[in-house]
Amino acid sequence: MGLGRRIRIKSEEEVELIRKSSLLVGRTLAEVAALVKPGVTTLQLDAIAEEFIRDNGAEPGFKGYGGFPNSLCTSVNHAVVHGIPNNHPLQDGDVVSIDCGTLMNGFYGDSAYTFEVGEVSPEISKLLSVTKECLTLSIEQAIVGKRIGDIGAACQKHAESNGFGVVRELVGHGLGRELHEAPEVPNFGRRGNGPRLVDGMVLAIEPMINLGRREVRTDEDGWTIVTLDSMVSAHFEHDIVVRKGKADVLSSFLEIERVINKTK
Ligand code: MG
Ligand code: MG
Repeated sequence: MGLGRRIRIKSEEEVELIRKSSLLVGRTLAEVAALVKPGVTTLQLDAIAEEFIRDNGAEPGFKGYGGFPNSLCTSVNHAVVHGIPNNHPLQDGDVVSIDCGTLMNGFYGDSAYTFEVGEVSPEISKLLSVTKECLTLSIEQAIVGKRIGDIGAACQKHAESNGFGVVRELVGHGLGRELHEAPEVPNFGRRGNGPRLVDGMVLAIEPMINLGRREVRTDEDGWTIVTLDSMVSAHFEHDIVVRKGKADVLSSFLEIERVINKTK
């Protein structure tokens, strides 16, 4: 991914700016969440998100990034990440991972949530729960004195003990003035391995967990990463800052889940 080698530790002021940007992502995803239902297209969701981001004084973080055409990555069912919004209506029983980035005051926010469309099967619902648990368990490891490998090991253990596959080819990352900074944050690994975590390190942690096998490939559109076995994949992402004893989560799912629980 070419993140560069240097891990940029953030000042308190920088952390607060990343928090602002990250919270705007959560609010944007909550706007989108209200519309996620059978019949809506991911292009419609993308338009709502872009307008909301700009109305709040920010720029979409993904639009134009590496040539990506839209403000949201919308990855449906067997798509893992980097799906391009399109005109296909979402259907009852689908899941859609919606990944959103914002750039505000020179700092990025980057967060993702996988939504159920209508009624999904129990096994898919379990995949989503376990993936979100993987994110929580990973964040618990993101404290001063631990290492990057501790984050991945916690995620991998939980996913694999539930029989799910952990994507290897795509990883979390540092975050700040760049959308992708060092270090890489794999969702698999060995405890005690990798760079040491220090106070003020800002990381985007984003487990990508497959219902079936872990292998993925790039779709013909050149962007969308899909599972090789065409089984469903899930993806949740938070931005955090490493602190002593407990990481500070900069992004939020609270507003998203308020909307989901209201519409259920
Ligand atoms: Mg993201
Ligand atoms: Mg990310």
